Amino acid sequence: MRKPALRPAGLAPETTAVLTGVNEDPAFGAVAPPLHLSTTYAFEAIEREGPYAYSRAGNPSRDLLGRTLAELEGGAGAVVTSSGMAAIDLVLSLLGPEDLVVAPHDAYWGTLRLLGARAERRQFRLALVDQGDEAAVARALQDRPRLVLIETPSNPLMRVVDIAGIAARAKAVGAQVAVDNTFLSPALQQPLALGADFVVHSTTKFINGHSDVVGGAVIAAEPGDLETLTNWAGTVGSVGSPFDAYMTLRGVRTLFARVERQQESAATIAEFLDAHPMVTAVHYPGLPSHPNYPLAVRQQRGFGAMLSFELSGGLEAVRAFAAALGVFTLAESLGGVESLVAHPQTMTHAGMSRPAQEAAGITDGLLRLSVGLERVDDLLADLDAALGAARPLKAARAS
Ligand SMILES: *Cc1c(COP(=O)(O)O)cnc(C)c1O
Repeated sequence: MRKPALRPAGLAPETTAVLTGVNEDPAFGAVAPPLHLSTTYAFEAIEREGPYAYSRAGNPSRDLLGRTLAELEGGAGAVVTSSGMAAIDLVLSLLGPEDLVVAPHDAYWGTLRLLGARAERRQFRLALVDQGDEAAVARALQDRPRLVLIETPSNPLMRVVDIAGIAARAKAVGAQVAVDNTFLSPALQQPLALGADFVVHSTTKFINGHSDVVGGAVIAAEPGDLETLTNWAGTVGSVGSPFDAYMTLRGVRTLFARVERQQESAATIAEFLDAHPMVTAVHYPGLPSHPNYPLAVRQQRGFGAMLSFELSGGLEAVRAFAAALGVFTLAESLGGVESLVAHPQTMTHAGMSRPAQEAAGITDGLLRLSVGLERVDDLLADLDAALGAARPLKAARAS
């Protein structure tokens, strides 16, 4: 057997993302970790099980992705799931009928749907609060929740929530804290270091980063929690497939490089939109005018590659804008190498009632951008042309 590489301690996270599992193959010395598709593993003899027995319970390719994500988030370990929703549901499996969950009123729409459906079946009790409102959070914590779910920055308005502040107050009343870190990834935010007990990801987004795998992960700070979650995921079978894990790890290799370039372009685009007469508001935590700018500076390593903005001229202008785009693609999801634009009111948040949309600030002119890896000049020119096409005819003639 060949000897796997010996890594020095204290490597930077960028290096961990690139090197975890590299040159560890004892059989052939493969540099890139092999993909293990086998569902079953041979016992050495009766009563002598090897490191793996059956792939629902454990698989080397899936475990390698989990190990990498756990190192990047600074956790005891990770459970790799078949989707981001399966990851959130796995954390909810810790709860019983008497337990209270406190979640953000403007959480990812799929998360709100899942929480609502499970609460309706009396699997736990649910309180939705505006987590930017300190008094509302304090009131919710008085009811002694078992779990506080945080999502920051929020979708689609990019509100930033104070993870360390809420985690400290949640701990004081005996609650555990889970943070959905999908929008920033471990490259830009590490919730466990801020006091969270769990991080959940839709790895579908920045972590895989190529819009070709749906997946998720839960990273636990404590070994005991990790064991409970691992056992439950194996019991219900919500684990991710080895092939998806292999693809996602390939995405992780470039996570830092992608996110750094993508957020640089996002900042340029935010400034461009902020100065454009057709745009009435830009929601990007990297703009000093954003209400949570100081918190974002303190809590995040960067401002990310997601932003949203208000186009003037209502739905008619939105239609013309979307139809004129040639580099941005009109699609849901985010975090891939290609730039996307979404209209939350009719796309990602279409399942929400009008009053709920209004309460969450989702207007007919709101557009969300996921900024990709194209040359920023091409992205700016595309937006500029589409904003020109969205100008009302009268205004266009007058100028
Ligand atoms: C996409 C997303 C999810 C759900 O993940 P899936 O992989 O689509 O199941 C959860 N939270 C956030 C913030 C997301 O963007």
